[in-house]
Amino acid sequence: MFRAVLPRASPRSAFRHAGSRAIPNNFVTPMIFIGHSKRGFASEADHDLVIIGGGVAGYVAAIKAGQEGLKTACIEKRGTLGGTCLNVGCIPSKSLLNNSHLYHQVLHDTKKRGIDVGDVKLNLTQMMKAKDTAVEGLTKGVEFLLKKNGAEYIKGTGSFVDANTVKVVLNDGGEKTLRAKNIIIATGSEATGFPGLNIDEKRIVSSTGALALAEVPKKMTVIGGGIIGLEMASVWSRLGAEVTVVEFLGQIGGPGMDAEISKQAQKILGKQGIKFKTNTKVMSGDDSGSTISLKVEAAKGGKEETLDADVVLVAIGRRPYTDGLNLEQVGIEKDERGRLIIDQEYRTKLPHVRVIGDCTFGPMLAHKAEEEAVAAIEYIKTGYGHVNYAAIPSVMYTHPEVAWVGQTEAEIKASGVKYNVGTFPFSANSRAKTNLDTEGLVKFIADAETDRILGVHIIGPGAGEMIAEATLAIEYGASSEDIARTCHAHPTLSEAFKEAAMATYSKAIHF
Ligand SMILES: Cc1cc2nc3c(=O)[nH]c(=O)nc-3n(C[C@H](O)[C@H](O)[C@H](O)COP(=O)(O)OP(=O)(O)OC[C@H]3O[C@@H](n4cnc5c(N)ncnc54)[C@H](O)[C@@H]3O)c2cc1C
Repeated sequence: MFRAVLPRASPRSAFRHAGSRAIPNNFVTPMIFIGHSKRGFASEADHDLVIIGGGVAGYVAAIKAGQEGLKTACIEKRGTLGGTCLNVGCIPSKSLLNNSHLYHQVLHDTKKRGIDVGDVKLNLTQMMKAKDTAVEGLTKGVEFLLKKNGAEYIKGTGSFVDANTVKVVLNDGGEKTLRAKNIIIATGSEATGFPGLNIDEKRIVSSTGALALAEVPKKMTVIGGGIIGLEMASVWSRLGAEVTVVEFLGQIGGPGMDAEISKQAQKILGKQGIKFKTNTKVMSGDDSGSTISLKVEAAKGGKEETLDADVVLVAIGRRPYTDGLNLEQVGIEKDERGRLIIDQEYRTKLPHVRVIGDCTFGPMLAHKAEEEAVAAIEYIKTGYGHVNYAAIPSVMYTHPEVAWVGQTEAEIKASGVKYNVGTFPFSANSRAKTNLDTEGLVKFIADAETDRILGVHIIGPGAGEMIAEATLAIEYGASSEDIARTCHAHPTLSEAFKEAAMATYSKAIHF
């Protein structure tokens, strides 16, 4: 709340130009304002707040609302809290990424470290169990937190009856009707299908099926070289599958990944054994045989080629999920991509109905959903809230990790702003060298006139943790000199971060 109204301390050199340049120009600001109807408030409301959806957005809103003393109910139909993230997204994928990396390292990366190991065998059932244990522990933990903070958890499917009334079809049978002063829609997103390919979650899978394969496929084709596709490609390639990634664009990692970093990522993942077909489109698929055949050709047209695989992962993106909410009944509108339309305070045209997380604007990320949840409750409680959409990091948890915050070099160039770039390779960082893990680099981009940091892009060990410092720097409007003059512990990977900042405003020492 206070961050929205209090002036910030000025960073050393950045304050000269503290304007709007740091806001990425590819972000659609959630501010399509329709005009509010008269507050249709029901005096007989039995809840201050009803939340539909118990994913990251919904459960965080429920906890925060409970802390703020709002009588709150959170409706979730899945049977467990935590949504996509905890059940079939961030958490299970990171469990498999971590353990498949360990397996791969033990198989291929111990001899030179002076560790001789005997027979190494994959126990996929146990690896899946470890994943399930993490998921179960965390979802139960969230349930406990709701209880601890006095928020009611209702297992069922919610839909609008009228502007203040939500009906719940209970998972255990029966119905319940809730009257609410405020309603938050947090129903999340679902995987986008591929026309002509029938996802059975066994042979043709979405990310959900890819997180639960019963055996390692001999050959796997991944349609879509975005973050989810590449993370899953890494898991199954490390476990022994021959993986080919087909990507329509000329680069992997999605359009948010800086082109220079994307190139590095493709090179490194290629060395690990993943094959890439960029600038390539899938034309059709046939799953009638013992393998699945995909016909692919160059995105701009050209010679057709057939790719055979035991498993095909469709990872071409996610779309907002709002099915069955009966939104037409209350007049809540979507845009052409199915995102629910809101203003800057997350309000729909019904001012007491707000929308947060994947089912509305902005990047589909768990931490973005979480920020919005806290802000939405603050708006309800106090009238003030704050999310800085220019400082939302992205991480790809491959090895090495890729992480970034702020704008890409291509975006900055297109905006016409003059900028400086500074890079530092991990091959010149003492800790990375000690750890025999030297692939990648840190790249800073700063405004040439003010030195304000506009974007930071990292590929390398620990990038996902390191990006927090860059996010803080952007949040505080720091200059590259601010970072360069901040003492970083030795020997750490974060010295590469400092040195890249030094290279941006002056010169690196160790390269
Ligand atoms: C494989 C994968 C990996 C990912 N990895 C990351 C990552 O590393 N980092 C990251 O930041 N993000 C990651 N994401 C994205 C992240 O999971 C989502 O951004 C996040 O879960 C969005 O939260 P949400 O609460 O908006 O939606 P969701 O998590 O989708 O939750 C919405 C919930 O609403 C429920 N629901 C829907 N309709 C109703 C209804 N009518 N009544 C009751 N309940 C309903 C659904 O059952 C669901 O549980 C990943 C996603 C996937 C698929």
